[in-house]
Amino acid sequence: VERTLSIIKPNAVAKNAVGAILARFEEAGLRIVAARMLHLTREQASAFYAVHQERPFFGELVDFMTSGPVMVQVLEGENAVAANREVMGATDPAKAAPGTIRADFADSLTENAVHGSDAPETAAVEIGFFFPEGVCE
Ligand code: ATP
Ligand code: MG
Repeated sequence: VERTLSIIKPNAVAKNAVGAILARFEEAGLRIVAARMLHLTREQASAFYAVHQERPFFGELVDFMTSGPVMVQVLEGENAVAANREVMGATDPAKAAPGTIRADFADSLTENAVHGSDAPETAAVEIGFFFPEGVCE
């Protein structure tokens, strides 16, 4: 089975939607195999989103991701990366399909409620970033 890294972003934690979003993952057949809450530092957020550092929205993204606590999880299941991105919906909530997490919990393109790894290779790197001690079987 495959694993992916999920982040419930500060806007969704602030609106008390952690439980509702975790339920969406479970209903989609994804198992939560690791989880922790943390308030990202600017160094952590910048490193995590380093791939976007030249993009015009990078500063706004780091400001947002450090604005309050987040919950990071490792989700496990068949085709976990794609399955998670399907329940998340499109990056832009205006384009997210009805019933997806972003359609229901995003506040804007930046404050779009959740992050999910975009490929199994990036998932492995992102899981190591937040769970360097490893994840239980
Ligand atoms: P994520 O990586 O958070 O799962 P994604 O893969 O759907 O989202 P990316 O292109 O990787 O989207 O962008 C990372 C994040 O940066 C987005 O989730 C969003 O919060 C923010 N973002 C992306 N594009 C823009 C934009 N044009 N303006 C403002 N913020 C943006
Ligand atoms: Mg991405």
